[in-house]
Amino acid sequence: MPTTTPAAEARLQTRARLLHERAFTLDSHQDTPGNLLRPGFDLTHDHRPDEKAQVDLPKLRRGGLDAAFWAVYVGQGPRTAEGYAAIRQEVEAQFRVIEQALRHYPRELALATSPDQARRIRRAGPRAIFIGLENSYPVGLDLRWLETYYRRGARYVTLCHSSNNDICDSATDPTGPEHHGLSDFGREAIREMNRLGLMVDTSHTSDDTFYDCLAGSRVPIIASHSGCRALSDTPRNLSDAMLRDLAHAGGVVQVNLFSPYVKTEVKSAARQQAEAAFCAKWGLKTFLNVYALPAADRTPALAEYARLEVDFPVPLNTVADVADQIDHVVQQAGIDHVGIGSDFDGGSVLNGLADVGDFPSLTLELVRRGYRARDLNRIWSGNLFRVMRTVARGKVRPAR
Ligand SMILES: [Zn+2]
Repeated sequence: MPTTTPAAEARLQTRARLLHERAFTLDSHQDTPGNLLRPGFDLTHDHRPDEKAQVDLPKLRRGGLDAAFWAVYVGQGPRTAEGYAAIRQEVEAQFRVIEQALRHYPRELALATSPDQARRIRRAGPRAIFIGLENSYPVGLDLRWLETYYRRGARYVTLCHSSNNDICDSATDPTGPEHHGLSDFGREAIREMNRLGLMVDTSHTSDDTFYDCLAGSRVPIIASHSGCRALSDTPRNLSDAMLRDLAHAGGVVQVNLFSPYVKTEVKSAARQQAEAAFCAKWGLKTFLNVYALPAADRTPALAEYARLEVDFPVPLNTVADVADQIDHVVQQAGIDHVGIGSDFDGGSVLNGLADVGDFPSLTLELVRRGYRARDLNRIWSGNLFRVMRTVARGKVRPAR
């Protein structure tokens, strides 16, 4: 057993705090725009756990977070002209509410669209907010929308959410594959994203889609909030082969902090029974399919599942389990291919890592495990920024 004196422990903690402050820390996936849409939502308020907000200005300060991607997230709906029109309005409302927040707190937050700009912003004081579009559904069948969202500030597009769409297959569509990867239109979309300098995000996609993106993209791709299947066997995580192939192509996986994806959960018999009854009632194979329900069923089903979680709680995974995820990516893919994409405000909560304010405890755990300043800088932003720069440089210049 390693022995440590209180003085050595204090030195370690001081060093970890310093390394955390010195690293440029970036979280590549926060669902905060959903909260910004809540009437009366106040970013300056330090929300309690029951107030369901894991990102606010006091927490960002406490967590020493320098930059974040805020996800403009939309669920999948009908692939019809009316469906596309309606979802584009929803997307517009989210861009607006982000812009409003940035206008409201100019000393605290500012929009960033490149790594250099993010660093300049932070040196001047505010934290840098990037934008990602989660689900390409609003693109519909018209690729010009990719350029529209790029111009609004989006720098990655998560190709799908819990269901298949016009561009690709999802990892969790209850009906199974539709295109067996990217559709022909999806292949065009990847070319257009390469042209624009928009990162391709394969979180939520099926394995076939992931491999089609690897083959079809001229520049590295990312998984903005996913983990390792070796530690939690869910289709939302990446197999060891996928981790290695992603790294080989120069990409990065940003480890998700959603407890069920961090480590296989231990569920009591009563919980398993309750989940089985829930799935039978809503006609689902697994709980993961709940987001694929029609919108009218999704809300009551999620509310029912939230009650089930209170009645039959599962112990939350921990900061050490996240560090295990990072260790595993490092073993399989190398230190240059891992980062953090929390999914805070989107369901993630861990024991000891309940919100962005707790991020220093993750750095502490990594320092305990021997990660050094250079490693921490790569994990906390260097790797994603490398991909971002490569993708921006890979932009096809217009022909003269
Ligand atoms: Zn997601």
